[in-house]
Amino acid sequence: MSLLTDLAFEARNTARSVADYVTGTGLRLGVTGLSRAGKTVFITALVQALTTPGARLPVLRAAAEGRITRGVLQPQPDDAVPRFAVEDHLTALTLERRWPESTRRISEIRITIDYERRGGWRPGPASLTLDIVDYPGEWLLDLPLLGKSYAQWSAETLEASAAAARAPLAAAWRGHTALLGADPPASEDEARRCADLFTAYLRASRADLYALSTLPPGRFLMPGDLEGTPMLTFAPLPVAGPARPGSLAAMMERRYESYKALVVRPFFRDHFARLDRQIVLVDALSALNSGPAAVRDLQNAMTDVLQAYRAGRSSLLSTLFRPRIDRILFAATKADHLHHTSHDRLESILRLLVARAIAKAEDVGAKIDVIALAAVRATREAAVRDGRDALDAIVGTPLPGEVIDGQTFDGLAEAAIFPGDLPGDPKAALRGDGLALAEGENDYRFVRFRPPVPEAGPDGAAVLPHIRLDRALQFLLGDKLS
Ligand code: GDP
Repeated sequence: MSLLTDLAFEARNTARSVADYVTGTGLRLGVTGLSRAGKTVFITALVQALTTPGARLPVLRAAAEGRITRGVLQPQPDDAVPRFAVEDHLTALTLERRWPESTRRISEIRITIDYERRGGWRPGPASLTLDIVDYPGEWLLDLPLLGKSYAQWSAETLEASAAAARAPLAAAWRGHTALLGADPPASEDEARRCADLFTAYLRASRADLYALSTLPPGRFLMPGDLEGTPMLTFAPLPVAGPARPGSLAAMMERRYESYKALVVRPFFRDHFARLDRQIVLVDALSALNSGPAAVRDLQNAMTDVLQAYRAGRSSLLSTLFRPRIDRILFAATKADHLHHTSHDRLESILRLLVARAIAKAEDVGAKIDVIALAAVRATREAAVRDGRDALDAIVGTPLPGEVIDGQTFDGLAEAAIFPGDLPGDPKAALRGDGLALAEGENDYRFVRFRPPVPEAGPDGAAVLPHIRLDRALQFLLGDKLS
């Protein structure tokens, strides 16, 4: 794709954004986060909350003031982007009480929110068109590739894979690469073998046990619709100088360049650069539960992911792909796994965890906030008597097959668990003190709950309970509804 095409897109995007900004009628909200962070659940809950009368959103000012007339799902705005399957996800959550299928590729959904302006100089009815764009956070890691040649990327990736923590995971791939000899000829079978081994190494690095930073290419971990295509059938090779025509290195280089031109560049240009606001979901609790290495990894991954927002002023690339994002919300998800006394603590931990990423985003002039939320609250709170003490517990329905104290749950019975408190000092949490369990407590922190039984709204539609979803909405779009 040529620079001219990029510039033409850029001009059109700028015109569109300026028009939207002036009329205040359109907002493109990006929802991202690493795999399993909670994107699908968040978007489903957000759409449900904004389109269902009776949703409880007291902190969203327009809702609290009764100024939201209605929210309506609109036809898919973009022919080239799959629609976010909100109906399927809602059926899963509310009728079947199971968690929906997670994000695997980009998707989009549009709703319009009709509301009454707040008075001032132009009172009366108005409408906000909200486009929600869901995409894997892994894809943001690809931006730096645009500025790197195949040889550079290969050298860096090979070097990283030699580090002590990674070397055992990369052994099979590196061993195979070493056996190829100097400058082997192009071969589809060989390319596939290298790509498979390289992908296995990237996956192993991400696996919970090791939890190392995610490395690009992002599509190797989250291929979307590209699985098995030649664009994902390459791997780093040690190359010195220009690749010889007909060599495996030349084949890999061509595919690497195709990946950049046909996958990375269009994503940043057509989607990322058009976002107005962004929520970055972070499964901080899982990282805290997994220990300090996982926390460090998450911290690194968030900093890497957020590089995409920084947009070094000097580089043409970053000028082209810089989003006009004016607000970014970092959200620690699944806060319903904690008692409410720990919600603020989770927020402080996230604030510290993403401090480096925040500093970079603030550089761009974006307004930033941090929140702990549960888009869908699967638990409720209870005080459980233990002798003379009353202990803070959370109650929910463990997923079928969950085992607590030797009891296997069937997906119907409820359980009360004691989630423990997060440390008051966020630094202690990041050091690895994790959740401070009461002495002698079993470690219940990994219990997974089924989605809750929804309540019925005034027109019979399901209303899902949440924690602080309304606060997130106030930050992300409250000013557009004033
Ligand atoms: P994605 O990969 O970012 O799309 O992640 P999902 O939205 O599919 O969420 C991954 C999993 O996290 C779900 O299957 C749920 O088990 C869990 N989850 C996500 N959001 C919540 C929440 O608000 N509360 C609870 N209890 N679990 C959640």
